[in-house]
Amino acid sequence: MSTTLGTASAAPGEFDTGRLEVGETRDGSPVGLPVAVLEGADDGDTLYVQAVSDGDELNGLGVLTRLFPRLDPADVSGTILVVGIVNYHAFQVAEHRNPIDDTKMNRAYPGEETGTSSERIAHATFEAASRADLIVDLHQGSTSRMIDEVRVRCGPRHRLHRECLDLAKAFGTGHVLDQKGPDGQLARAGPDEGIPTIDPELGGAVGWDQSSIRRGVEGMQRVLRHYGFLSGSVELERQTRATGFDQYGSPVGGLVDFQVELGDRVSRGDELFAVTDPFGQVRRRVTADEAGIFWRTRRLPQVATGEYVCSVGTDTDTF
Ligand SMILES: [Zn+2]
Repeated sequence: MSTTLGTASAAPGEFDTGRLEVGETRDGSPVGLPVAVLEGADDGDTLYVQAVSDGDELNGLGVLTRLFPRLDPADVSGTILVVGIVNYHAFQVAEHRNPIDDTKMNRAYPGEETGTSSERIAHATFEAASRADLIVDLHQGSTSRMIDEVRVRCGPRHRLHRECLDLAKAFGTGHVLDQKGPDGQLARAGPDEGIPTIDPELGGAVGWDQSSIRRGVEGMQRVLRHYGFLSGSVELERQTRATGFDQYGSPVGGLVDFQVELGDRVSRGDELFAVTDPFGQVRRRVTADEAGIFWRTRRLPQVATGEYVCSVGTDTDTF
C-alpha cells in the first residue's frame, strides 16, 4: 500500500515528491508546498520533518537537500513525511514572517482550516505531522549568529518531556534549550498531540551555513538510526542543557565589540561586550548578570540604546 502526502505517493521502497495544496496566491494560482514521502522497504515508525517554517531560515532546507539524496528507501524501515518549505509566501521574498498576514508561522500551530494564510498552512502541515510518531521542525536562530542547539518546548511538566529530551539527545548538537515555548509552536502542539517533537536550531545565517547544515544532516541521520529507521546504533553523548535565556541590550548607542565567542562559558561578572564610538573609544562595558553559555548575538555591530545585543543560556546542567 502506498503512503501519500499531497500529490506525493510512495509504495514500499520508493521516494516521491509532490505538492501539498494550501489555498491560492493573489493571482489565483494554487499554493503548493513542496512535499516528499519516503516509504521504507520495511515496516516501521513514521517520522515527520519540516523546514522553512520561518521564511529566512534556510539551513533546514540545506539539510533536506543533502539528506534525501543519500537515503536509499531500500535501507529504510518506516515512513518519512517531509514538508520542504512550510512558509511558502515568506520564502518567496526571503522574509521571516508570512507577508500575506504578517504572522510568524511558529505561533500559528496547530492551525485553523478556515483561518488566515498562516493558520491554514499550519493546519495542513499539522495534519501531516499528526500522522507521525516523531516530529522534527528544522529552524535556526533566524539571521542572528547562534550556536547549533535543539529546543524542547513542551516544558518540564509535560508528560512527553522525557521523550522530547531523548529525541533532542539523539539529534545531538551538544546543546539543548529546555524551556516551555510560546503558544502556537509546533514543538508544543506536537507533544500535546502525544508526539515527541524537537525544534533543532541550526546556527544562524543569512543563506546557508555549511557547518550548521552538516550538523543538521548528522543529527537527522542519528535520529533515523536511533529510532530504527536505519540500521546501526548511535552513541548518545551528554548534552549541555540551558533552561533559561538572559537577553542583553545595549545601554548606549555605538558599535558592539564582543569579548567572548559563541559557545563560551561565562561567569557572573565576565565582560560580554563593549560598546565603542566610531573611533574605538569604549563608552560602556557590559558584564554577565548570571553564569551560563554565550548563546546568540546580533549580526550587525551598530546598536541604538536598548537594542538587542546577545543572549546567554542560563541554569545549565548536562544530561
Ligand atoms: Zn525559526
